[in-house]
Amino acid sequence: MFVDKVVIKVKAGKGGNGCVSFHREKFVPAGGPDGGDGGRGGDVILVTDRNMSTLMDFRYKTKYVAENGADGGPRNCTGRDGEPLIIKVPNGTLVRDKETNAIIKDMTGVDRFVLARGGAGGWGNKRFATPTRQAPNFAKSGLPGEEREVVLELKLLADVGLIGYPNVGKSTLLSVISKANPKIADYHFTTLYPNLGVVYVEEGVSFVVADIPGIIEGASEGAGLGHDFLRHIDRCRLLIHVVDAAGSEGRDPVEDFETINRELAEYNPQLASRPQIVAANKTDLLYDRAPLDRLRAHVEGLGLELYEISAATNKGVREMIRAVATKLQHLPPIVVYEPEYVPPEEKLSPDDLTIELEDGVWVVEGPWLERLVSNINFSDTESLGYFDKMLRQNGVYDKLEARGITDGDTVSIYGLEFEYHR
Ligand code: GDP
Ligand code: MG
Repeated sequence: MFVDKVVIKVKAGKGGNGCVSFHREKFVPAGGPDGGDGGRGGDVILVTDRNMSTLMDFRYKTKYVAENGADGGPRNCTGRDGEPLIIKVPNGTLVRDKETNAIIKDMTGVDRFVLARGGAGGWGNKRFATPTRQAPNFAKSGLPGEEREVVLELKLLADVGLIGYPNVGKSTLLSVISKANPKIADYHFTTLYPNLGVVYVEEGVSFVVADIPGIIEGASEGAGLGHDFLRHIDRCRLLIHVVDAAGSEGRDPVEDFETINRELAEYNPQLASRPQIVAANKTDLLYDRAPLDRLRAHVEGLGLELYEISAATNKGVREMIRAVATKLQHLPPIVVYEPEYVPPEEKLSPDDLTIELEDGVWVVEGPWLERLVSNINFSDTESLGYFDKMLRQNGVYDKLEARGITDGDTVSIYGLEFEYHR
């Protein structure tokens, strides 16, 4: 659910053909070969765009073809190179080969990457002239451009978080604005796990919304929610504070609004200071406008915008979404995507160890250990403490014990020698 995934086909441009031509001029009987080379085909290039946060656009366009190189011409005219085709992807996009699923490139922090190379242009006949072959009447064709079918994968982080009391309609709202399919029910524990949805506004404009469940249900004390999920929302750029404007459960909208903001501040002060807009929901149930008007006055007094909506009937929802999209354009992008991908060679196992007793010294070696040692600053006690902890946690001491190490023996690990004490 947290990964956006699309398959696209890309094809770089074919090189232009070389030209066969001979120089002609009035009163010059037999001119030499002057056929120019074909131009290079255009590359397909991925470029990261920090303002993009989803792969939504790729659902509507899945084939990408760069321009071919132009053919060479007479009079030594070289064909024009094909234009490269730039494909914009969000920062953090992982590119995999469709066939093998192997990672081709992790676009995290990468500006551009040539995904498919254009074909070279063919040589014109002028190139083939030699002292013994003065009139070559052939040229080379351009080479085909590379073609690839790739999977783009992006871990979604939410641009927008939905906050509010249970049952105010957060899940309903998410379901009507996005492709997510959250559970909706009439009790206070509906959203048991987080939901992310991608909201598509128009081409090039989409954003990710997360239903932030249960702030009120003790989330600030860490109950129930995994930190994994909280990571998705901590970086929201904007919060939509959903309020039951009809007071359909007998509470006062202004008090609800304040209570949630207090909870939020307790849970995460930074998140509480994020820009907020207010969605006054369930306006279809409104028989008395007074509570809504009080909420509006209260909220606008705080300098916030309020939108009257009904997630159930869709009234006002589109207008609010457009306003959110416009706001997001002026807010800074989500700062970092944590690279998820660990290159295979980095997955070293702590169990891959050798222990040798050499002249009374226990020599321990292994790729994982070597990596660990290279990252430790041995003049720093904290770093040393970490080193000790890693050895303990990963069973290095247990293995030494099993081999019969005793207190006071010397251990040697890649140049670092220390006395062993249980
Ligand atoms: P959440 O706990 O905030 O996620 O709330 P839900 O989306 O699960 O909604 C709780 C209840 O309110 C459900 O029965 C919804 O059908 C209902 N509901 C949500 N939005 C509206 C609305 O705009 N109008 C009305 N009449 N009911 C709504
Ligand atoms: Mg819910």
